[in-house]
Amino acid sequence: MFNTIYLLFLLLPVAFISGYFLGHKKPNNIKLDDKNIIPSDYIKGLNFLLNEQPDKAVQVFIDLLEVNEETVETHLALGHLFRRRGEVNRAIRIHQNLVERTSIEPEQRARAIYQLGQDYLSAGLLDRAEKLFNELMEQKPQTQAAMQRLIEIYQQEKDWAKAIEITKRLAMNTEQDYTKIIAHYYCEQAEQMLRYNEPNKAIKLTKKAIRVNTLCARASIIEGQVLVKMKKYKEALKAYQRVEHQNPELLPEVIEQIKQCYNQLDQNTKMRDYVFNVQSQYGGISLVLAWVDVLAKENSSSAEEFLIAYLKEKASVRAMDKLIDIKQIDSIGSAQDNLNIIKSVTTQLLKTKSHYQCHSCGFLANIYHWQCPSCKGWDTIESLHWVDGE
Ligand SMILES: [Zn+2]
Repeated sequence: MFNTIYLLFLLLPVAFISGYFLGHKKPNNIKLDDKNIIPSDYIKGLNFLLNEQPDKAVQVFIDLLEVNEETVETHLALGHLFRRRGEVNRAIRIHQNLVERTSIEPEQRARAIYQLGQDYLSAGLLDRAEKLFNELMEQKPQTQAAMQRLIEIYQQEKDWAKAIEITKRLAMNTEQDYTKIIAHYYCEQAEQMLRYNEPNKAIKLTKKAIRVNTLCARASIIEGQVLVKMKKYKEALKAYQRVEHQNPELLPEVIEQIKQCYNQLDQNTKMRDYVFNVQSQYGGISLVLAWVDVLAKENSSSAEEFLIAYLKEKASVRAMDKLIDIKQIDSIGSAQDNLNIIKSVTTQLLKTKSHYQCHSCGFLANIYHWQCPSCKGWDTIESLHWVDGE
């Protein structure tokens, strides 16, 4: 309450003065008191504030401040301030008041509509915001900003078809490259089809994604998932292996699926060669551990030797955790008890640490996200390369 009163006391006299003196005329609805030149409505507004009726006070002050070309900026600033403070209903009233005025310039009215749309977005009234931004798309100075807000709305509503349509229009209006994002929208549609048990439609959409962005590793991963479901392991393997050329950073996300496809095809030697090659070429603890698993199935001592050599070069909690697993198989008595204690420590360490981080906003995650849940950036999440990470 104190903050609201403070804000209004601070802003409205300024607003009044700017409206009155910059306009060089007496606003129609202001009644001046002859003795002290303070409008009686201003006193009425202050009384509402003092009686803790801020909504009535805001209405009085809005009525008091005549809208004309000179005072539009003050109205917009006040509305913006209210929204930033989370007082969205008040921001809406101020912006609605502006939008209803026919006396202001079309460009100023467009800005007021844009701000009103932002208010609706903040209030979660997506359909109203969508209507306003659609209207604004046709009005030059606000076209791009309106398109960006519409895309945000369609992302929230998971209306990917509309998101694609508007993003393509936005791409034509700017120099920026939106192909990566459009490919993600096709992938979102493909995942929807996968959930609806429509594998062929899902594959068609992944192909659209790759046509838009040949480096869309996500499309290859979805295609691999669909083909595994259809038991087409040879084609699935081909799709998963494309990830290596599209974005090798994502190989840890598919290495187990690749191994499973080779197993289904009964191609153990090829699997062995593939895993060995990718771990030696790209490194990273996930690929190294995939190779250790291959070795452990053949001979536990060679897996152990490989891990010890790796740990001498690089400190890694995940490598140590795996070494304990291998050692536990043959250990007995107090040695086994000691290993169990160390294992509980590594398990705890790995459980409490995040493995991914958004390079744009710093959001930490335990699983990979294509879109950052916090800043909504696409492809901004990366593996953490530290002692208990990748
Ligand atoms: Zn982020």
